[in-house]
Amino acid sequence: MASAQTMFDKIWQRHAIAAEQDETLLYVARCLIHEGSSHTFDRMGKEGRKTAEPDKVFAFSDHYVPTTNQRNGIGAIGDPKIRNMVEMLTANCRKYGIRHFNMGDPDQGILHVAGPEQGVSIPGIVLVGADSHTATHGAFGNLSFGAGASEIYHIMVTQTLWQRKPKAMRIRVDHRLPFGVAAKDVILAIIAKIGHGGASGHIIEYAGEALTSMTMEQRMTVCNMSIEAGGRAGMVAPDDETFAYVHGRAYAPKGADWDSALAHWKTLPSDDGAVFDAEVTLDGAEVAPMVTWGINPEHALPITGRVPSPDAGRDAATKTEIADALEYMDLKPGAALDDIAIDRVFIGSCTNSRIEDLRAAAEVAKLGKAKIPAWIVPGSATIKRNAEAEGLDRVFTAAGFEWRDPGCSLCTAINGDMLRPGERCASTSNRNFKGRQGLGGRTHLVSPAMAAAAAITGKLTDVRKLAKGA
Ligand code: SF4
Repeated sequence: MASAQTMFDKIWQRHAIAAEQDETLLYVARCLIHEGSSHTFDRMGKEGRKTAEPDKVFAFSDHYVPTTNQRNGIGAIGDPKIRNMVEMLTANCRKYGIRHFNMGDPDQGILHVAGPEQGVSIPGIVLVGADSHTATHGAFGNLSFGAGASEIYHIMVTQTLWQRKPKAMRIRVDHRLPFGVAAKDVILAIIAKIGHGGASGHIIEYAGEALTSMTMEQRMTVCNMSIEAGGRAGMVAPDDETFAYVHGRAYAPKGADWDSALAHWKTLPSDDGAVFDAEVTLDGAEVAPMVTWGINPEHALPITGRVPSPDAGRDAATKTEIADALEYMDLKPGAALDDIAIDRVFIGSCTNSRIEDLRAAAEVAKLGKAKIPAWIVPGSATIKRNAEAEGLDRVFTAAGFEWRDPGCSLCTAINGDMLRPGERCASTSNRNFKGRQGLGGRTHLVSPAMAAAAAITGKLTDVRKLAKGA
């Protein structure tokens, strides 16, 4: 009898074409790129190369697009360098025959938001993207990871990629989540527990009732931040929730292809008795709304906590890291996290800009008026349309939030949306590194509901108390 396999082993084995020393050549079923892929196209042009399978490559204008007045078109982008990035992707996709979800396209959006919406993300495949948060797509039960420019070049011209096989880690989150706790809190709690390098060299399979009871959008939030724990990828076993989400989407299999794909997808979950290289367990019932206080996602605590002292570091290096984080974030040890005043709020990014995120934020926005600037940046044009059809835009604008156009925006601050030096932001994005949202900007990562609560009170706030009127 064949030995029990993990889902990761099954997918890896099925996509392995050749092996040499400690590397395997994998077939890449789908490749996602964005405006930052210009070097790849430059090299292809210089070498006279063609795209091996252009129908397996999908391009998204997201990182550089403005999040206001998109209806005015690419030509109206004020900064010529930013405009050039969008124009170059447009021209290259035309030249190489690649489907481009461009600004103005009704299906445009962030690659990790619009990709799943289009059925580009399906179970059982190897999917590689030109962005480290490609781990998001593993929520569908596939192997999805980010790659650099030279690797994307290799995929574009061969549809394959050499990879060293990572180890497998299983993270179980048992029991259902309590009131006021979101998928974002789960992944922040995981990273706080295992550390920002805790999953280095591993792919993570998430399991347990807290995960299996999540919607696809919530699973995407968790998988999205696998990279922030050092993981190469994150994945959740596909189930009926997954199949229902994928069915009927533009690039999902159809008809007889759907039937055979579904039969295969049902074989993907890890076998009973499959052995993982590492196992971690959390109790989902114990997770609280989380907030980061420092300069990497490991620096996270329940909102009921206090800013730690460098003395809390487990060794000299960690003590120095905490001291450095406190200096950058301008925080004093012992301060209550829910006393930290915030200058602005960003609800968006591939972690938390989907319709369920906006609904959660809107429920909180109904409780008051924003005291500080608060942006809502939907992850895709589809989400923006659907949210407007539900009236969410009106809830936000009535509460003083700003309703913007889709894109990466303040997640990475390369489209011109950025914090000013010293500004403090409650953000639903995925990275709180120094300067990530703009030089000198200070980021506190939170869930959409927590971000909306911060907008209403002007400080980091326990959304559970706000919701209960405490
Ligand atoms: S939202 Fe942020 S992390 Fe996600 S794709 Fe855009 S820049 Fe990357």
